[in-house]
Amino acid sequence: MSRRRGLAGIVLLLAVTTAGCESGSPPSPDAGATGTAVPSASSRSAPSDDPHSSAGPWTGACPAERAAPDPDRPVVDVDFSLSDDGRTVTGSESVVFTPDLPTGELVFRLVPNGPGSSEKGNRLTVDRVRGDDVTRGHYEPAAAGPPGGRYVLPLTRRLAAGESTEVLLDFTLALGEGAFDRVGTADGASWWASGAPLLAWEPGVGWAHDPFAGLLGETAISPAADTTLSVEVPAGMTVLMTGDQAEPSAPRDGRRTWTSSEPAARDVSVAAGDFTTAETIVDGVRVTAGVLPAGNDGGDGAETRAQALTDATAAALTALVDRFGAFPYRTLTVPQLTILGGGIEYPSSILLLGPPAGVLVHEVAHMWFYGMVGNSQFRDPWMDEAFASYAESVVTPVDPPAVATVVARAGDVGASMEEFPSNGSYVTAVYGKGAAMLLAAREAAGAAAFDAAVRCYVDARAWAIATPTDVATALAGLPAARDVLVAAGALDVDDLPG
Ligand SMILES: [Zn+2]
Repeated sequence: MSRRRGLAGIVLLLAVTTAGCESGSPPSPDAGATGTAVPSASSRSAPSDDPHSSAGPWTGACPAERAAPDPDRPVVDVDFSLSDDGRTVTGSESVVFTPDLPTGELVFRLVPNGPGSSEKGNRLTVDRVRGDDVTRGHYEPAAAGPPGGRYVLPLTRRLAAGESTEVLLDFTLALGEGAFDRVGTADGASWWASGAPLLAWEPGVGWAHDPFAGLLGETAISPAADTTLSVEVPAGMTVLMTGDQAEPSAPRDGRRTWTSSEPAARDVSVAAGDFTTAETIVDGVRVTAGVLPAGNDGGDGAETRAQALTDATAAALTALVDRFGAFPYRTLTVPQLTILGGGIEYPSSILLLGPPAGVLVHEVAHMWFYGMVGNSQFRDPWMDEAFASYAESVVTPVDPPAVATVVARAGDVGASMEEFPSNGSYVTAVYGKGAAMLLAAREAAGAAAFDAAVRCYVDARAWAIATPTDVATALAGLPAARDVLVAAGALDVDDLPG
């Protein structure tokens, strides 16, 4: 996620050579949302004999090709239905879960109940659960608003590693007043991202019981899942969401159903409204941007604004592909809402809250960092936010003296979400210093060698949940770069391979 003014970290850091940040904005945070994401393989049956899957530890060898999603990843199907007044989503979520470690429960994170979001009237409740191995679950407060921030579903039998269970959760999501958030309704549009119970499993580790943080940033962790979505909305609404979308159904009783599929998504985003859309194909990816009639970019007509947003997204995508390799998804949707604040990344979809300037490249970069290469957003927030902020440099001129100044500041880039006392300290360390650290590391190692190492990391850890050790492994042959990350507090000696 990126709050416009939150970009102050990197933008100010590069202010010597750029236009600087938005005027009139307090130097406050950036933050979080959730994103999640997935691969370009198609359909839900990934080849189980694929010789190169992202499951398992990375030894450091640069893969000949990008890792495929885990063939045993969760299979998630979610049906959403938006009420005619746009304020309530009812849904049902089917999950087929195959743990790689033994477990006796399922744990879901209820992101809309987190601090900040719940206070705006957003609320996610689980109404009913079904499945051969479950009876009833319970909420855990986890410092979230009612009914709680996690939903724990005990299993009536213990699953062995590799053994599957299927559960169905019916849920209700109340959408609060629109704000810079993942969930809300405003000006005739409704949007919900992280709007369904989110499977909180970290392969190789187990369930994430992380608390929520009082900061404007994401705290989720979730595996890439083979995902299918169905969204029923009033017939006059257009849906832009995660996944490769099919044409909507014909109107029936004043309603239409939109569907999509994404073979590897950690989370999903849905926006419904009177969107005017424009579309283009770039680097084999279908980019679709949508704008609302109210207009939030001046006096241009909706078609002009939609086309401009599509073109800007396509340009960002191309610049990032040049640096980080193939785009992770077949499609990318960018619904622009009337609420202001910044951008929030999701697998193959970006909620744009306000104008794209200053946040679009960052959010598109999250498709690689968090969407494809996952991380614990609670434990290691820098692993997606520092990389996404660093990635802005593909279009933003870099001023080495300014970078050196920022990277020398106090603060550990690698701190967890509970270690930052304020939004300001979080943004300064993770976004600003984190980006500067990676720029300085690139300078120290040489651009070509550093870019090659990052590509190896991206390809090796695609669709997995990466750790700081993976970054240290990627930089093992570039000690000058690795030393920069150690000095900045992103890596410690325990992360270093060997
Ligand atoms: Zn971000």
